[in-house]
Amino acid sequence: MALSGIQIYKLLPQTNCKDCGFPTCLAFAMKLASKQVELAKCPHVSEESKEKLSEASAPPVRPFTIKSDGYQVEAGNEVVLFRHKKQFYSRSGLFVRVRDSLSPGEIKEKVEPVDAFEADYVGIELRMDGIAVQADGGDFGEAVAAVREVTDLPLILIGEKDQIAGGLQHLGDDEVPLLAQATEENWQEMASLAADHGFPLAVEANDVDQAVALVKKVTDAGVEDIVISPAQRSMHGTLIANTITRRMALKENFRPLGYPILNIPGDVGDLDREINLAAQAIGKYAGFIVMDHFEPALAYPLLVLRENIFTNPQEPIQVTPGIYEINDPSPSDPVLVTTNFSITYFSVANEVESVGAPAWLLVSDAEGMSVLTAWAAGKFDAVSIAKDVKEFDAASKLDGEMRIVLPGHVAVLSGELEEELPDWSVKVGPREAVDLPNYLKQVL
Ligand code: SF4
Repeated sequence: MALSGIQIYKLLPQTNCKDCGFPTCLAFAMKLASKQVELAKCPHVSEESKEKLSEASAPPVRPFTIKSDGYQVEAGNEVVLFRHKKQFYSRSGLFVRVRDSLSPGEIKEKVEPVDAFEADYVGIELRMDGIAVQADGGDFGEAVAAVREVTDLPLILIGEKDQIAGGLQHLGDDEVPLLAQATEENWQEMASLAADHGFPLAVEANDVDQAVALVKKVTDAGVEDIVISPAQRSMHGTLIANTITRRMALKENFRPLGYPILNIPGDVGDLDREINLAAQAIGKYAGFIVMDHFEPALAYPLLVLRENIFTNPQEPIQVTPGIYEINDPSPSDPVLVTTNFSITYFSVANEVESVGAPAWLLVSDAEGMSVLTAWAAGKFDAVSIAKDVKEFDAASKLDGEMRIVLPGHVAVLSGELEEELPDWSVKVGPREAVDLPNYLKQVL
């Protein structure tokens, strides 16, 4: 049972030494009670207290990793129901399913584009996370071997014990796949396979009671890393099952449901419903998502959605401040100024790149804020821009007239910047990045 902050406080040394990074033991206890820090941050807890606190400090959603040669998918370790309260930590792993009823050639044809897919989103590399192999009346071992011939991505193996065992022979020594799925009918065999190898196991259940009972059975059989797999396939049913599971784990600290969740949108058959279900699963608690369809145009929005949900809302995505070259600029080309908020940077850089206009792009350290926000917060002004111009030695890149272009939204800074940078010709660019190509062609 979860301990309150005060109960935890009574078990701490109460010296307020601050070694944990908090000003008092009580502050640390409150954070520990809300699962926002680990007990290990306090180096002074007695062994006796540690034992008592272990339940309070154990992650409410058990973390583990499935992995293959060079790749891994982390799951669990979530502490909040709503991302804006803190952060979601373990990105939903997106897997594409192949069935062993396909020929090895067909399997490779389906897996190759998944393996090759890479896309960039504001400097973040997007990739699919793995392949699920489903027993479907074919040769499971041959199917896994075919997959492994074209990709090293992590695997989810879906079938019965004997089928999956045939596939395991084709995995590398250090691989950890997710095995799926233990049910009321087959849990003994599946649990023994998972326990023997130390692999995580998904349990499929029609409702919460069945999930709890199955988790208890496979836990007693020696399986530690478990995934809850609701049998529902409708949007409504999946949402309810996922939400109850996660809510019980986080709000009630109910250990039997404190595990990552698997959803299989690929089972719905219809492409539109599959995509919608996958999107819902990303937003609502799925640690693993298995889809049947793959196309870059379908994968990209899902992966972008995932990035937007699993980044820390309190930390804007930033690029490193500095001077960036766009389209191989020469010493006579202008220096454009923007802030280090990733989306701002990429908006400007992409617009300039797209017309082939050469320019230097000075990215000023505005603590990851966009231009107007940073200006309003006093993080992007003439003094800070001038400081960055000097720090990054922008003048050394140029000869002749030194032109610096301010974003139009902060035209008000131009006079001050002229005073700060008397050797420079200060220009005011357009307010929106989309107007930069025209500005560069016609005005400069
Ligand atoms: S490190 Fe431990 S003893 Fe020191 S203030 Fe933090 S909780 Fe208290």
